[in-house]
Amino acid sequence: MLLTISTTHEPATDLGYLLYKNPARAQSFDLSFGRAHVVYPEATAARCTAALLLDVDPVALARGEKGAGAPLEPYVNDRPYVASSFLSVAIAQVFGSALSGRSKERPELAETPIPLEARISVLPCRGGEELLRRLFEPLGYEVVAERHALDPAFPEWGESRYFTVSLSRTTRLSELLRHLYVLVPVLDDAKHYYVGEDEVEKLLRQGEDWLARHPERELVARRYLRHRTSLTRSALARLTAEEEGTDPDAAAEARDAEEQQAEERIGLNEQRLGAVAAALRASGAKRVVDLGCGEGRLLRVLLQDREFQEILGMDVSVRSLEIARGRLRLETLPPKQKERIRLIHGSLMYRDPRVAGYDAAAVVEVIEHLDAPRLRAFERVLFEFARPATVVMTTPNREYNETWESLPAGAFRHKDHRFEWTRAEFRQWAEAVAERFGYSVRFLPVGPEDPERGAPTQMGVFSRE
Ligand code: SAH
Repeated sequence: MLLTISTTHEPATDLGYLLYKNPARAQSFDLSFGRAHVVYPEATAARCTAALLLDVDPVALARGEKGAGAPLEPYVNDRPYVASSFLSVAIAQVFGSALSGRSKERPELAETPIPLEARISVLPCRGGEELLRRLFEPLGYEVVAERHALDPAFPEWGESRYFTVSLSRTTRLSELLRHLYVLVPVLDDAKHYYVGEDEVEKLLRQGEDWLARHPERELVARRYLRHRTSLTRSALARLTAEEEGTDPDAAAEARDAEEQQAEERIGLNEQRLGAVAAALRASGAKRVVDLGCGEGRLLRVLLQDREFQEILGMDVSVRSLEIARGRLRLETLPPKQKERIRLIHGSLMYRDPRVAGYDAAAVVEVIEHLDAPRLRAFERVLFEFARPATVVMTTPNREYNETWESLPAGAFRHKDHRFEWTRAEFRQWAEAVAERFGYSVRFLPVGPEDPERGAPTQMGVFSRE
């Protein structure tokens, strides 16, 4: 298995400083699965190439096998010859400082985008060249891929999933290494070790600053975490939070301070919760889910009503969920009560079987936190996949803002709001969504109504037809 990294940034031999490996010397390292060698096939001021050669020991690998599969499988496989999660481990161990962007001798260079080309001699691509491009091109790489036949002597056998790949881009070395670290095992779609919670941390650390915005982040997380659904979900929820640009916890918290103050004067919060609970009750729902439950205000109201036999709260903010847990005194509830309620960490951006099949869903003061592309995703997640019989949704009525003395004209009630809709805008959106997914919708004002501007909160109650 061979990975080469080349640069033409002069003096190119400075690549040795970034990698902490002297171009004049060949070096070898013992790893748990074999040996890694670093050599420089070329090292001039104009162009320098470092080669990482992995010598994966199939016998050492076979020793770790549990004896599953065909008898010779542990010995006869592609692992020693292809780029896989072994390469990621080797990058972390042999080029650890470069991966984290540190350089004692050339700190500025480590921070500087330089022309780089990575070549991987054999990269298994489950998903073919198309996926290879979908993964690297959005990151700005020029991708050249050469596909290998299954057996060159027998072209009729067709193509293999193995490619020789070249990736070129002007970027920081640490970025290139982080992209390879994450995406090589994703393309290979296999991992040589058990994947647990700490893999989520690794993914988020090496994916920082790029994965959250990557169009294939779902596939990346799923494959990287070896299709372990709960880990994938947790990673995606945290990525969503990162991408939202604001710390989700901070956003949820800030709401308390600003928005609540303004609203408290008219007791709007209480009225809203009362109205939502009433609509849920009227629907006859027994099992309800509160999406974007925040600190659990609605959950507390629902818990007091025995009609609701099963209550689920979901939020993307871990901190809010912790606060909710405390406020609801979940730990000290009598067992009968405790059984009725659960809190889960998740995101409204991804379909999630845990929130499917409920009688009703509440989405209270959440949609205005979602920007347009996320709102589109959310519509499907809620109305197509979760598909509760009833959805009770609230959002601010922008028209009412003018009656708020403390609110500067044109301002939103909260700085994390992506929009605030007039009654006509909410109605238009809600009716289109209802129509698209086979629901009907009616609208109700919540809070003191102004004859012209309506009520401060607008509520839509959707019923599945
Ligand atoms: N429903 C609560 C909280 C409203 S504030 C109440 O009325 O008090 C908006 C909440 O939506 C925050 O808790 C925020 O963390 C959550 N949220 C924002 N984006 C989300 C997403 N993509 N998935 C799940 N929750 C989200």
